[in-house]
Amino acid sequence: MRDSNRGDRRDRRASFFKGILRSLRSLRLLSLVALLAACAGRADRDPLRAIPHQNVLLITIDTLRADALGCYGGPAATPALDRLAAQGIRFDFAHAHAVTTLASHASILTGAYPFQHAVRDNSGYRLAPGARTIATLLKRAGYATAAFVGAFPLHSRFGLNQGFDAYDDRFGDTRAPDEFVMPERPAPVVVALARSWIGRGPGGSGRGGSGTGGSGRPGGSGRPGGSRRIPSDPPGPPDLPDRPWFTWLHVFDPHAPYRPPAPFAAQYASQPYFGEVAAVDAALAPLFDDLRGAARPTLVVVTGDHGEALGDHGEQTHGLFAYESTLKVPLIVAQLGTPAQRGEVAGAARHVDIVPTILEAVGQPVPGDLPGRSLLTAAERAAPDARPSYFEAMSAVLNRGWAPLAGIVAGREKYIDLPIAERYDLAADPGERSNLAGKSAERDRTLAAALGGFHAAPPGQRRAEDADAAARLRALGYVSGSAAPKARYTEADDPKTLVDLDRDVHEAVEAFDAGRAEDAAQIYRRVIARRPDMGIAYRHLAFIERQRGNVARAIEVLQQAVKAGVADPRIVGQLGEYMTDAGRMREGIALLETAANGSTTDLDALNALGIAYAQSGQRDRARAVFERVRTISPNSSVPLENLGLLALDSGNLAAARSLFQRALQADPRSSRAYGGLGNVALKAGDTRGAIDAWTRAVVFDPRNFDALYNVGTTLARQGNLEAARPYLEQFLRTAPPAYDTDRQAVARLLRNP
Ligand SMILES: [Zn+2]
Repeated sequence: MRDSNRGDRRDRRASFFKGILRSLRSLRLLSLVALLAACAGRADRDPLRAIPHQNVLLITIDTLRADALGCYGGPAATPALDRLAAQGIRFDFAHAHAVTTLASHASILTGAYPFQHAVRDNSGYRLAPGARTIATLLKRAGYATAAFVGAFPLHSRFGLNQGFDAYDDRFGDTRAPDEFVMPERPAPVVVALARSWIGRGPGGSGRGGSGTGGSGRPGGSGRPGGSRRIPSDPPGPPDLPDRPWFTWLHVFDPHAPYRPPAPFAAQYASQPYFGEVAAVDAALAPLFDDLRGAARPTLVVVTGDHGEALGDHGEQTHGLFAYESTLKVPLIVAQLGTPAQRGEVAGAARHVDIVPTILEAVGQPVPGDLPGRSLLTAAERAAPDARPSYFEAMSAVLNRGWAPLAGIVAGREKYIDLPIAERYDLAADPGERSNLAGKSAERDRTLAAALGGFHAAPPGQRRAEDADAAARLRALGYVSGSAAPKARYTEADDPKTLVDLDRDVHEAVEAFDAGRAEDAAQIYRRVIARRPDMGIAYRHLAFIERQRGNVARAIEVLQQAVKAGVADPRIVGQLGEYMTDAGRMREGIALLETAANGSTTDLDALNALGIAYAQSGQRDRARAVFERVRTISPNSSVPLENLGLLALDSGNLAAARSLFQRALQADPRSSRAYGGLGNVALKAGDTRGAIDAWTRAVVFDPRNFDALYNVGTTLARQGNLEAARPYLEQFLRTAPPAYDTDRQAVARLLRNP
């Protein structure tokens, strides 16, 4: 279907140039493209041109397969993106360089390959401070810069917030994230925030041309952590009183689990992934309309960070392999707010080409050391020497101890370097069914040499500090078996050999989500028996055991992982947290200190360390840790909530109230902040205010068991048992085993009011 779509377009052009074609019939397609480019060389015909100081909108749609969009022949109805493509350039052979969210976005924003920006996976990495990104470059050029991101992998803690005046990542991180719960927010929310910011104008005076007005302002005066505050002053360079803006908008919806909203849920009942894609398109439509009516033109770049396997080669989602289902992405570049242009379909492009393209389009110099090239002019797009594209998938080696995957797309050939090497002819075999490796030693050698030419270092040890962390672990009695990456991987380590384990992990997650914890635990035990170095299985299994109230068992699982030499620094933090849960404070704190001071600053471990200090009466240390969390994660409400709890604990009600209120400015739906305000009110003698705050806490998080208990028992003590009963019954029904003593008290209260 995709190919026929492309054919249509070619036919239309062919008829347009019929007369010329007749005399040039022997020309190959490539020359035809060059010819078209020459004919369209005038500025009014080329879909793109450099316009100094035009606005820039970069949209990344998470987990978006190249063949999902309507304009790519896909099954999702995407009229807004199709219209954008019809006005601009649609690249039909664009590739990502990594297949996980953080690593791929780091390439999109820096214009560098993963081995250059050094972000190789989602967790355990942070873009180095001082990195050069499209945001830092455009900010230096006088642009107001803002980002609106949809989900946890792009939280400001991972460093992509550099260069942004405003970085809105409020998807709620009040619960420690893990592989089961990925905090996110839906596209309509993220798009509305971006429209509001653009509509207000970066200078705060409503400039910018869209009609969305100033309501729902994403920033707010008085909010802690200035990086999210909207710049209201100064207005910019003197020659640019009306500053241009750069906005990066990230939507997460197509990521699993696939649960499209109405009406897309019904329309795409049998293929909900494509329903999510259609829903994203509908959410984006009003933003494009705003920009079409704006006074200043806007360069719009739309791409996916990676695709989704949907069962391709046995993979369910993404991150394991780098077949075209997850590596190939859509890429659309268009200009809105300019006279309508005729669209064009172009061929090869790479994520590293995006930064040079944007810079040239706004009239800024392109740094000479960037590996990408600008795609702005037709001549550049048609260049026959389209450079090869490096790619990698490092999740398997980093989280599972499997072989690392790297490869290259050169022309229409693809080479994947694994213990079982793969080579494909993508022109003849786009589905990568026929592995040609070994069929021509010359082609294998040529492509392997081209891949070697990138000199891409393997991820190996994450940083030197981790060796220090390993030494500290040994000092704590944790003798690690083989923490160093293997020197050599065999066919037994090839992800193709192990893909069924990947399916097992997905099955276990689904079982746990469906309430079948024991089934999930059994799957993980089987996986560990087969691959004792698979960190993700230990971490999930320990999480499940803890959720079931078996903290001691959870600790054993993680200790077993450390003994097996699993090289995943998050295991240490998780172990430390569970130790403190179990009351083993001294050991737990020692482990958390190790995890929190590793190279990657595990923020969850740092939070847990602060809580452990507080629980063991070390308030000053706790405060210092929470302040450190604030500097790493300035937009988060969590450190403010924790500082509020510390103030409450030391009886400083005024400070506690102020901190909880500031937490609510950071996250107006923070259940913990409302819970804290309830406790402040109660201590101040304001029972009515306390009940009101706890009630809100329960509304925003029905699993805030402290608030649930407090509101129920306080109402009951007031003699208002009818009002108390629903809260108390909900507490009995849902509170985990850690609350068993309180459950017994509540049960007694309900029996004998
Ligand atoms: Zn992603």
